[in-house]
Amino acid sequence: MCILSENVIIEDEVTKEFILEIAGDEALDIIEQLKEKGETTDEDIAENVECDLNNVRKILYKLYDNGLADYSRSRDEKSGWITYSWELTLDNIDSVLKERKKVYLEELEERLEYEENNVFYVCPDGHERLTFEEASEEQFECPECGKQMVHYDDDRDIKEIKETIEELKEDLENS
Ligand SMILES: [Zn+2]
Repeated sequence: MCILSENVIIEDEVTKEFILEIAGDEALDIIEQLKEKGETTDEDIAENVECDLNNVRKILYKLYDNGLADYSRSRDEKSGWITYSWELTLDNIDSVLKERKKVYLEELEERLEYEENNVFYVCPDGHERLTFEEASEEQFECPECGKQMVHYDDDRDIKEIKETIEELKEDLENS
């Protein structure tokens, strides 16, 4: 998978979710900018994405911490200002994401087991979802509002988790 090819980075849900998780919504715009320009300064990015410079820097450092971006410093001889040029580290992004997907897959498999091995009860107002054991400790009353909890059918959740697991497995096999 080449991350530079036609918006893969935004289209791939796991990639997107990962970036949102580590760096927030605005990171997607910043990554788009970096993809487009190759190498650019934080000031330039801030101007183009109409985002506060400090915020842009914060996001860039989060990407850096996760091995997705790198920077170089240069000092202007006259003014003494230091400029930071940023670029995406695309070689890393594939391996970072692959690791991430493996972890995500493990989490999903655990979640699937949990969903399959438990019976759930929910508050009709959506406050809580508890396992049968947890709900019986509360006498099947929502801990937040006291309403009678009702049985929750998690078949749809299980189906969705299974589908995502299949997609991830396929993706990992092909990468
Ligand atoms: Zn409730």
